[in-house]
Amino acid sequence: MTDTTVPDTVTSFIAGNWVAASRTAHEIPVLHPADERQVSTLLEADADEVDRAVSAATDAFRAGRWSNASVDERKRVLLRIAALIHAKGDELAHCEVMHTGVPIRQARARHIMRTAMNFEFFAEFISQASSAVFDQNPDYLTWVRREPVGVAGLIAPWNAPLALASMKLAGAIAFGNSCVLKPSELTPLSFVRLMEILREAGVPDGVVNLVNGRGPVTGAALVDHPGVDVIAFTGGTATGRQIGAAAGGGLKKVVTELGGKSANIIFADADLDRALDAALVAIFSNNGQQCLAGSRILLQREIADEFTEKFVARTRNLRIGDPFDPATEVGPMISAAQRERVLEYARRARGSVDLEVLHGGRPWPDAERGFYVEPTVVRADSNAAPVCQEEIFGPFATILTFDDFDEAIAIANDSVFGLVAYVWSRALDTVMAATEALRSGVVWVNTPLTRELRAPFGGYKNSGVGRDGGDWSRALFTEEKTVTVPRRSFPIARLGAAD
Ligand code: NDP
Repeated sequence: MTDTTVPDTVTSFIAGNWVAASRTAHEIPVLHPADERQVSTLLEADADEVDRAVSAATDAFRAGRWSNASVDERKRVLLRIAALIHAKGDELAHCEVMHTGVPIRQARARHIMRTAMNFEFFAEFISQASSAVFDQNPDYLTWVRREPVGVAGLIAPWNAPLALASMKLAGAIAFGNSCVLKPSELTPLSFVRLMEILREAGVPDGVVNLVNGRGPVTGAALVDHPGVDVIAFTGGTATGRQIGAAAGGGLKKVVTELGGKSANIIFADADLDRALDAALVAIFSNNGQQCLAGSRILLQREIADEFTEKFVARTRNLRIGDPFDPATEVGPMISAAQRERVLEYARRARGSVDLEVLHGGRPWPDAERGFYVEPTVVRADSNAAPVCQEEIFGPFATILTFDDFDEAIAIANDSVFGLVAYVWSRALDTVMAATEALRSGVVWVNTPLTRELRAPFGGYKNSGVGRDGGDWSRALFTEEKTVTVPRRSFPIARLGAAD
């Protein structure tokens, strides 16, 4: 792959055109996290540019080429987008690795496949979805029409840029909306390629617009814009609170998918070999930077020592290195700030009597450059420790021990978050009871992380408000219109009639 794949500069994409580079725009260097090299320059969109993007989206929506297009036409375009993503998967993966540092095998197999799948899923969904009809009343027939909301503001994080942004993007346009997408300022590269794919697939100009820049500048201008009707946000809990408040003030529809501190509960009767493999995947894949990470590993006491020993041994063996090397399992953190965040939690753990650092917690010694940290395993006596309560968002596992089912559930639920939970047991009674008792939006039983796009995804508590996936994305990106017609000409009271 040549580095012509990576754009030298990134500007906004508005009404089907790249905005010309302005000398006055705020410049943000885009770095490759593995060597800190500047690989591109982002020219930030200010509030005026965001306004132009929202106007383009509004004009496209009103023009109706997309918003009034038939479902079959939209389906065809979405499937063309998916096919182009597959065809250009290597280029897209290259860009994803360049700005995130996620290992290439994971970027190619997970991020890119999921991105294509998002478009395929919504293409099929819109062609199959039906709406409610109410025919109980003998005088009237009533049905529900689903119409696009208008202009969607889509805000995505940096940890899986295309995969997460495209879930929103595919949903928004499948249902006929126009949109303005704002990725993280750290990860703009692959979106340049995605916009080209959308154009080639036949998405009309103005239906999808892209603005880049810092959250409090570009993102806030988008959220506050009165022309934006609906907001889909994935990111941190603090940002989600601000966005929820701003959207509420503007009476905009909004869904927020936020952070997590998910429990991975492993009972003594589980298939421990599979549970071990899955525990490593759940915390160390995507460089540990994933909302659904199984970051709190809860072990039943009788297996705790042996499982911990094996987990630490496997952690020691993880292949850390160049994210472009197909053998690499763990790459660098996204940024210096994120590396510092992980190291600070490790420093605090070393200074705490309730915590024992079993492995890692320091900069990766083999790296001359790059935002690398050693994958870290910490044993905690109490779930009250900050490393058990706060989202670290890195390759940082904490291990806790429990005696029985009730204690496991109490620890798992003792969190301000409630995104996902993992349960490992061979006993059906244990599994069923856990699926009912856990306070999280998703429970994965005897399986590592996986995503069923037909089902709702989202969190309890501080992990977000609302869900996406199938019907839930439709609820966000459509307005429901109830239409009633009479089934026969029945008499109407004739107020004011002379006879
Ligand atoms: P942030 O909340 O910092 O940023 C998310 C997005 O919001 C970025 O595009 C950011 O822009 C933008 N943003 C920041 N401030 C504002 C603002 N005031 N107004 C509008 N937009 C703003 O999260 P991160 O990017 O750091 O992502 C990590 C977080 O995302 C973690 O907490 C993780 O758990 C969560 N996440 C949740 C998922 C879920 O499905 N529940 C999935 C993946 C991640 P910029 O970066 O340019 O500043």
